[in-house]
Amino acid sequence: MELREFQGHIRRLASLPETRASVVSCYLRVEGGRLKHRRVFANRVEELRRSFAGEDAQLFEKALVPIERFLSEELHRGSKGVAIFSRAGRQPFFLALQFYVPLPTWMAADTLPNIYHLVELKDTYWRFVVLVCSQDTARIVSVNLGTVTLDLLRERPELRQRLGREWTKEHFQKHRTTRTQQFIGDTVKALSGTMAAGRYDHLILAGDPKMTASVRRVLPSHVAERLVGVIRKSGRSGSWEIVAESIAAFVEAEHKESKATAEELQRRLRTGGLAVAGTRPSYWALKLGQVETLVMSTEYSPRPGWVCRGCRLDRTVEQSPSRCPACGSRELEHLRIREAMLRLAEQRGCQVELVRDSGTMVRLGGVGCLLRFRPGEARRGPARARIVRDRSYSYSYSDSGVAEGRFGS
Ligand SMILES: [Zn+2]
Repeated sequence: MELREFQGHIRRLASLPETRASVVSCYLRVEGGRLKHRRVFANRVEELRRSFAGEDAQLFEKALVPIERFLSEELHRGSKGVAIFSRAGRQPFFLALQFYVPLPTWMAADTLPNIYHLVELKDTYWRFVVLVCSQDTARIVSVNLGTVTLDLLRERPELRQRLGREWTKEHFQKHRTTRTQQFIGDTVKALSGTMAAGRYDHLILAGDPKMTASVRRVLPSHVAERLVGVIRKSGRSGSWEIVAESIAAFVEAEHKESKATAEELQRRLRTGGLAVAGTRPSYWALKLGQVETLVMSTEYSPRPGWVCRGCRLDRTVEQSPSRCPACGSRELEHLRIREAMLRLAEQRGCQVELVRDSGTMVRLGGVGCLLRFRPGEARRGPARARIVRDRSYSYSYSDSGVAEGRFGS
């Protein structure tokens, strides 16, 4: 799956309008064309089934039908993970995505799709190129969201066995060195081309230590600055083995990058730069379209806020009033804040960085945002068009600069 297509799916899920019928979100581990944890899946279905009654129960059963059909008929042999979203009712919806990287086994039924694991996948399995070198071959392997999509093989032309016949040893060595340099030069040229054509931001060099070192010396600067790892492997390691290792190296590099984003967030907060941290400010910055990058700890799990079913007034505080202060409705439901933030970020095309094991993020309350412009500039700022388009939405600022907004006024 191409990245753009994948982003399109996520955005579509993030923007799906809510209806009365629940969306069943399934993330499942697959192996050899079958579900890996069939029993866990069956038990979870049973648990969810018991939570519904009446018409809701019927809608849930109807939503399960295409999921079961997909699982029994459509799984690819190479798939490691599948994400399925299904809803029955007046506005039925079905989307199933297969990946060559594992997904956790996780399932929920809620008014909106749960996109966390897709966002995590997008954040981690970005796209990268591996150059696998041995003494006489070079492979350029590009990896997209865990799918190996291209394997361009370059083979060094055979050195003719001239030694001892017409050439002296010295002559042969010289010839060999020239040929090697030419081979490396050609490989690097092909590599630059592949990276530019596919807009790849990350490169990993792997294989024979001598060759990778030689390649590294001649990388043009725009390619060298994208190098995130070198895997030294002498002898004849299989390309697939190396690709698997390079995925691990890439994931490691991605974690470092995420941590760097968390540090940038902290730096901006300390210097009064364009940033906010904590649940409430981050939520409102997202709603107002001020966010460039949403930075979230993978352990972030805030208590739910509340949202009014009648007028969509929402608050990130846990204690909900008995009636909505805006419309008087008693129909208040939980606002799942982490999911709501991810949906807003994807709807608005913000970058999302998920950060693992970060003390910085824990100190900052688990979530923060790098902003595109200051809250006070919202009305004149570049996001104005977005806000204006959202006509049912009104907003105001308190003295502390914290934005409060609501729908439907
Ligand atoms: Zn209300």
